[in-house]
Amino acid sequence: MSSSGSSRRPYAGWDFYEPSDRVGSSTVPAALAVVALASAGAFAYQRITMWMPLIYVNFLIVGGFAAAIGWAMSEAFLKTHGRAAKMGAGFAAGAAAVAFVVSFQAAAVFTRGEIREEREALQTRLALEGEGEFDEEAFEELVSSFGVGDYIQLRQEGGWTVGRRSGGVGLSGGMVWLVWLVELGILAGGAWLMAEKRLDRVYCEECRRFCDVIDVASIRHVPPRDAREAIRHGTIDDLLALPSTDRRAPPLHVRAHVCARSCPAWLDVSTVGPPTKKGARSSEVPLLTHAGVPSATLRRIEERAQLKADPAEEAQAPRRSKRPKPPGV
Ligand SMILES: [Zn+2]
Repeated sequence: MSSSGSSRRPYAGWDFYEPSDRVGSSTVPAALAVVALASAGAFAYQRITMWMPLIYVNFLIVGGFAAAIGWAMSEAFLKTHGRAAKMGAGFAAGAAAVAFVVSFQAAAVFTRGEIREEREALQTRLALEGEGEFDEEAFEELVSSFGVGDYIQLRQEGGWTVGRRSGGVGLSGGMVWLVWLVELGILAGGAWLMAEKRLDRVYCEECRRFCDVIDVASIRHVPPRDAREAIRHGTIDDLLALPSTDRRAPPLHVRAHVCARSCPAWLDVSTVGPPTKKGARSSEVPLLTHAGVPSATLRRIEERAQLKADPAEEAQAPRRSKRPKPPGV
């Protein structure tokens, strides 16, 4: 039998947050509503895509639509106690795939309108060629029967032009399918990533709510490797007691997920990678995610981390560092 006493010592070890992967009673209906919404949105999306002549900008629109679907799906999960992040991401990707399919139907409908607009030109041409009477009924029948298959065929023959309108590179035939495959990839992948990132939240099963996320502190001048070891094998005290040995070490961001004061908080510790030659920061590297700590401990981290922070680097600090500041970009 494991001793509950030792596991309850304030700084003894870290627990990792394990999501229950449960969803609320209204999560699935809400998710299906988002799928319907994405399908309706596919018409607006297709309209804009067909209107936009620049294929590069088109891909930005695809990315934007993907992000919107992912955002809406994660919102549906967050509002209905859906704490199954992978399921939410899967639903988001599914909604994006459905929207992709619907966009073909939208394209066929919009193309019908375009063909109708060509009606007069066609009439004039037939008259000039002496082809006889313009068959109104046959034309209408042809237009209204224009479907998804016809659109796909039309696209494969017509394709898109990349670059200048005259003398640009044409994309047709098999390349058209490649473009569509990339479009589907961006839509489903983008929606998945957006939903997964937004659903990476801690849910308190006791309070029955998602925890708030707050920035606790930045710990500076501690090499990330030391910090990671201290976190893995030690305690919060070990982490905070680490000497400031490396002034060039990237700051460690400590973020907390908190609900009520009586519930334990969950920590995220991540580091921003070392600055690149251009001075830009590389992306955040998670060292530890969602380790449970008592709320009282959180306060200690906050206090002690503030002491550790280099006052010269604090924006509100009146004292200035003697070191020359890097030129602002
Ligand atoms: Zn709670």
